[in-house]
Amino acid sequence: MTRIPIVGGNWKKHLDLQGGLGLASGLRNRIGSHRATQVVVYPPYPLLHPVFAKLRDSAIRVGAQDLHPGPEGAYTGAVSAKMLRSVGCTSVLVGHSERRSVFGDSDHLVAEKLSAALDAGLDPVLCVGETLDERQASRTFEVLARQLEVALSGRRAADLGRLVLAYEPVWAIGTGVTATPEQAQEVHAWIRGRIGSLFGPAFAGGLRIQYGGSVKPGNAAGLITQADIDGALVGGASLDAASFVGIVHACSRG
Ligand code: PEP
Repeated sequence: MTRIPIVGGNWKKHLDLQGGLGLASGLRNRIGSHRATQVVVYPPYPLLHPVFAKLRDSAIRVGAQDLHPGPEGAYTGAVSAKMLRSVGCTSVLVGHSERRSVFGDSDHLVAEKLSAALDAGLDPVLCVGETLDERQASRTFEVLARQLEVALSGRRAADLGRLVLAYEPVWAIGTGVTATPEQAQEVHAWIRGRIGSLFGPAFAGGLRIQYGGSVKPGNAAGLITQADIDGALVGGASLDAASFVGIVHACSRG
């Protein structure tokens, strides 16, 4: 089954308005009409609409780094899926490891966020991954099974057409240590098999699974040529237009 590669740039808590617009312009000029890979950038909330306006009519989409699961209401500091849609977002990260470890997002909260994103018509990117301790204790697959099953519980394949997964080993995020292509492929294949047992092989065969964790222009090609790796979720290297564009090109199949 053909899966269009998808590359995301997670800007995290970096860049002010001027810096964000400069980066968006650089991307627009270089890959604004690139369609061999789906490209999504995830600026911080205050930059979402200005970046969307800068990228309007280009092939680059805009997504948010997180959302609050509830509807509008008395939730100071929170942002709803509907608000994200209204400022041009088509995608949202859910369950990023920094949300889980720094902000305490539980598997159940991640499931609620995933539901809110799906209900609003956003494309959720569900991030899963094990810590170094969990890997060293041979618990990688147990952790991933729990994260996937809680987040996706009660769902049917028909609800999940917009879903993208990102396997991001926590030990590789922002550390400069990336999983080898073989390590990443082993886990991606396992995830696809698990999704197949939950939702059927046809759904699993069409599901895109990004790899994230210190992806750079120099290691992206080795990762994307693995059978079950369908793109990259990029943190640090997405803040530099030339690096991010290099990764996008490396991830373009054919
Ligand atoms: C991320 O935050 O999702 C990430 C993969 O970061 P980095 O590329 O910097 O490791």
